[in-house]
Amino acid sequence: MERIPTLFSLAKRNAISASVVCPICEEEIESAEHLLVSCSFAQSVWCIIAGWCKVPPIFAFSIRDLLELYRFSCLPTRKAKVFHAVCLATMWCIWKARNSLLFERKPVRHTHGSAGSGHGSNGLEMNLIQVEHISSRKSAARERWIWIGKKVVEKRGY
Ligand SMILES: [Zn+2]
Repeated sequence: MERIPTLFSLAKRNAISASVVCPICEEEIESAEHLLVSCSFAQSVWCIIAGWCKVPPIFAFSIRDLLELYRFSCLPTRKAKVFHAVCLATMWCIWKARNSLLFERKPVRHTHGSAGSGHGSNGLEMNLIQVEHISSRKSAARERWIWIGKKVVEKRGY
């Protein structure tokens, strides 16, 4: 999974000499596993995703665990497929939010604003809106994703 160009994987390839600390929590080395699984921010996101998808709390120790969550979700086949799409899209969202923070210096707190306004949004909120398209949800889900984004932001205090 270190094909994802995290700071740690780039440093291992001598592609960078800068800090390899996770830009989100600033507590651990940023590997793909850390960013998507064990980072406190990622854990907040997975906690909310579990609640929203009405599945048991998500305990993952690796990216492989996340990729196989749908198999153990106890959801009917069709819902399990949607849940799998949501998981994939969520990983993508976390990656995009990380990139916005790292390269555009856009703190996640910028997602605060009126729901659905589309103004002042970036990173997580924008990405969660795009998740809605990926997971083939109807327009009502859009507001829900924005809400999830805000809850994550509020919980993390960004
Ligand atoms: Zn982190």
